[in-house]
Amino acid sequence: MITQSFPVLLIAGLFGAIVGSFLNVVILRLPEKESLLFPASHCPHCTTPLHWYENIPVLSYLVLRGRCGHCRAGISWQYPVVELLTALLAAAIVFRFGLSFTAAGYFLFAAALVVVIFIDIHLQIIPDLISLPGILLGVLFALFSDALTWQSSLIGLLAGGGVLYAVAMGYLLWRKIDGMGGGDIKLLAMIGAWLGWQSLPFVILASSAGGALVGILAMVRQGRGGQSRIPFGPFLSLAALLYLFFTEHIAHAYHLYLTGQWP
Ligand SMILES: [Zn+2]
Repeated sequence: MITQSFPVLLIAGLFGAIVGSFLNVVILRLPEKESLLFPASHCPHCTTPLHWYENIPVLSYLVLRGRCGHCRAGISWQYPVVELLTALLAAAIVFRFGLSFTAAGYFLFAAALVVVIFIDIHLQIIPDLISLPGILLGVLFALFSDALTWQSSLIGLLAGGGVLYAVAMGYLLWRKIDGMGGGDIKLLAMIGAWLGWQSLPFVILASSAGGALVGILAMVRQGRGGQSRIPFGPFLSLAALLYLFFTEHIAHAYHLYLTGQWP
């Protein structure tokens, strides 16, 4: 554990907020295959381009009280949430890994997961444009980082992809419906590549538990039926982030469990 001074964490957080502001654009435009750079940020309602002072992460949203400065149309709270989340992730990653190659790599990984979470919530897809390069970058990262070995990454990639593929095939044969999207399979392969195969039991267990809980709550709210599709990508992504920050705690709990001291 490398503890960083407060100014370093603050700068990391500010950097994260700026990246988060870019991620908002990616979340909006990547599924539409639009350019990420042109046109410049504008109000989605009246299309007035934003002044630089209307485009400051989180602050502009607060100062403008969530409305466009030109036409007063409401602005989605998703914008400041993504900026704040990315800021916190950047600070937490620097706190944990210092100013290092590993921190830079894991920030890229976390940013990709933020994009996956919000695109999957809106559209129930996980773009290949993120997961496939993500898989490749994960293995490359393992080659140069001391956070994990390339063997652990490669086994993670294959096992992560393979486990969900087997579940999806089993589900297809059993219920004759696609329960698990191909996007989820590629996402878990990407998570395995970045975090190593050791992360997979926790990521699968935690995401399934979270997904089942939210699924039950949704069924209770909607009454009967229960065929409503809940995107699984956000649960996989959140479980991966939990593992990234609490690896030792999770390993310790697992050790206690194996030796019969927990729960
Ligand atoms: Zn407007």
